[in-house]
Amino acid sequence: MEQSTSEPPQKTFNCQLCGLSSPFTYYGQKPPNTRAIVLLEECYVTKDPFSPDREKFLVLGSNCSLCGMCVCVASECSLFYTKRFCMQCVNKHLDQFPHQIQAELAKKKPGSRAAVS
Ligand SMILES: [Zn+2]
Ligand SMILES: [Zn+2]
Repeated sequence: MEQSTSEPPQKTFNCQLCGLSSPFTYYGQKPPNTRAIVLLEECYVTKDPFSPDREKFLVLGSNCSLCGMCVCVASECSLFYTKRFCMQCVNKHLDQFPHQIQAELAKKKPGSRAAVS
């Protein structure tokens, strides 16, 4: 189906770690049609397809503050600690994160300990 150029091409968010792909409607810190929401970071946002409420939206992901890689908000892909970090950068700089974060990450990866030693 050929569409006229009046409709802008749909922008797609792609997580570079898990491959999640989803169209997004907005990138930034203050999604449109929301009254007083300011996000902690610039991120990819889409309208919640399951909610009739215009103010409902979903945060799909963001760019890693270190390497700029596009990652989704899943705990396997990124971590938000004052800024967004992709898991590759988190693992690279793990010693610079507080012990609390390190402990949380260790909990999430039950098999990782066996690989060390
Ligand atoms: Zn992902
Ligand atoms: Zn990164």
